[in-house]
Amino acid sequence: YARVADKTVDSVCPYCGVGCQLTYHVKDGKIDHVEGKQGPANEGRLCVKGRFGFDYAHSPDRLTRPLIRRADAPKDATNVMRRDWKELFREATWDEALDAAAAGFQKALASTPERGRASPVSGFGSAKGTNEEAYLFQKLIRTAFATHNVDHCTRLCHASSVAALMEGVGSGVVSNPLRDVEHAELIFVIGANPAQNHPVGASWMKNAVKRGAKLVLADPRRTELARHAWKFLGFTPGSDVALLNGMLHVIVTEGLTDAAFVRDRTLDFEQLKAHVADFAPEVVAPVCGIDANTIREVARAFATSKASIILWGMGVSQHSHGTDNARCLIALSMVTGQIGRPGTGLHPLRGQNNVQGASDAGLIPMVFPDYRPVSDAAARAHAEEVWRLPPGTLGAQPGLTVVEIINAAYDRQIRAMLIQGENPAMSDPDAGHAREALARLDHLVVQDIFLTETASLADVVLPATAWPEKTGSVTNTDRCVQIGHKALNAPGEARADAWITEQIARRLGQDWRYDIHADGTASDNPAQGIGAVFEEMRALMPSIAGLSWPRLWREQAVVYPVHDLGDPGQAVVFTDHFPTPTGRARLVPATPTSPAEVPDADYPLVLITGRQLEHWHTGSMTRRASVLDALEPLPSVSLHPTTAAKLGLLAGGQARVRSRRGVVTLSVRVDDGMPLDTAFIPFAYAEAAANLLTNPALDPAAKIAEVKYCAVAVEAV
Ligand code: SF4
Repeated sequence: YARVADKTVDSVCPYCGVGCQLTYHVKDGKIDHVEGKQGPANEGRLCVKGRFGFDYAHSPDRLTRPLIRRADAPKDATNVMRRDWKELFREATWDEALDAAAAGFQKALASTPERGRASPVSGFGSAKGTNEEAYLFQKLIRTAFATHNVDHCTRLCHASSVAALMEGVGSGVVSNPLRDVEHAELIFVIGANPAQNHPVGASWMKNAVKRGAKLVLADPRRTELARHAWKFLGFTPGSDVALLNGMLHVIVTEGLTDAAFVRDRTLDFEQLKAHVADFAPEVVAPVCGIDANTIREVARAFATSKASIILWGMGVSQHSHGTDNARCLIALSMVTGQIGRPGTGLHPLRGQNNVQGASDAGLIPMVFPDYRPVSDAAARAHAEEVWRLPPGTLGAQPGLTVVEIINAAYDRQIRAMLIQGENPAMSDPDAGHAREALARLDHLVVQDIFLTETASLADVVLPATAWPEKTGSVTNTDRCVQIGHKALNAPGEARADAWITEQIARRLGQDWRYDIHADGTASDNPAQGIGAVFEEMRALMPSIAGLSWPRLWREQAVVYPVHDLGDPGQAVVFTDHFPTPTGRARLVPATPTSPAEVPDADYPLVLITGRQLEHWHTGSMTRRASVLDALEPLPSVSLHPTTAAKLGLLAGGQARVRSRRGVVTLSVRVDDGMPLDTAFIPFAYAEAAANLLTNPALDPAAKIAEVKYCAVAVEAV
């Protein structure tokens, strides 16, 4: 780089859950370039998003003043595309906007005595903010709003994985860090596309393969990582449980279980054994599309390797049977004893850079920080003590989840919402319904850095700071808490989310005295500002008891559980027991079920939605990152060449994709890694929002929606 920076500032990548550390080089108040730092997850590596996806922070689209909706600007759920804010809003002072925000919530609360699940108010926090922001947000909703109706995108991410893990092993976190693939003999990746969605993580997998590890990739799409795989299992979409039960059948019937581990550390093996007896590979092969011999070969290799690790993504979790999918993966790991050692274990790959931390911090309707159930009287009493509330203040009934909150808004039970940094008008299933629900609210307050599709439906918009404009902590997929430092000043009057939350809380009568800095700055002082928030959060979280704010400031990355200030933290957990009442893991059998909506004569193709390398989630940041948007500027639908030919479609041509819920038009991409009669659409493009098509059917245990499978029709335009 020819230009010498005025300063360098260390932080963490704002995109995926790998949690790469990076250094911003700042020149003339702007990020000039980014370098990878020697963090534990990346050792200097960055993918294209981390290296080039930063100039969104300097976009002319940034919100710089608080906005209040104009009286003559109706909320139009059918038109949420990017537009000039002046059409919808007028500028306001911070005091005016914050007063209006608080008054709307007070009015909604005064309209009914209902509280708890039936409350008229709710909130969506964000997995893209800091741990401190997530913690404050859930505290605001639980205290000032008197409800646990608070959730975030984890509901649409790994809620089913966490439900199965909590049930099976008593903890929803990963057992081993991603880089443990370097110690594995066999790496089993299922329902994930790490080369695009966790690229630095995928680079560790490729290195492991070069050193001799066997990689098995199980996914309906033959993605780039398949080139490095010993076996690629291109199974029929939605048939995960059948495939995994077939593997379990082989392991159990061929005596490949770890008998001592099963005896000493698991429960209910006999039920599982009886259940999988019906799933011989020859029986499941026609269902999952993988031949019986391959299922046997992979199952034997998994069971007999010295160390086998399982990593999975949203291809497993985002189904109406997502919890069952994860139950099968847990059983695979347990019956073979492939857990509790380096190179083994269970790793649900977290998507967003702070979805792990936001969940840990309690941004979930059924649990307080550290996953203590709101139904647990001792947990409520502890929270009331730390938050200095009268005993009995906090309710015992878990709140509504993301899709339930949207449905309650549609039905007008919920009248007011606070949304911090999430974009449900793009990210929620059946987005047309979600947009209508948001438009029906009497009062919607959105904190964000851009006028997102969601913010266009707001009554009050509060301009927030981007990731490089604030200091705070973030927790990656490995349970590693890291700190990011402020590198830039926010544009105009944009202010830190944590400051905004404190201001709203005070206006709603809460006695909050953190005195958070509006400009996103923080020091290593644990008694004031962000440091005080972290310390209060720590008081509620035994898992980070040994991680003080000054220690995090000093060491920059500490993995939990960390019990005292001298504890280095524990990268591999479940080494000798599981955190269940018995100390053992529970084996839960799963029966294959059909997806909630299957192809038929009117909608003959399966739609899979997901992400792509250059764009992140709803695209609000990466579509405004100049290099990334230049690389992938257009929405597309990928089809197998045979399917495209059958439909009369050519690569580069336009196609219309319809489901029972919506229609989008986008360009055709031909990809011979796609399964037949299946379409793939990334969900980052507002002009062709994939979630207008997706099915909001929920997994009954985890309330995650089936955004990975619905029926569509595709036709030439
Ligand atoms: Fe950022 Fe993830 Fe890429 Fe690392 S792998 S640079 S965390 S997007």
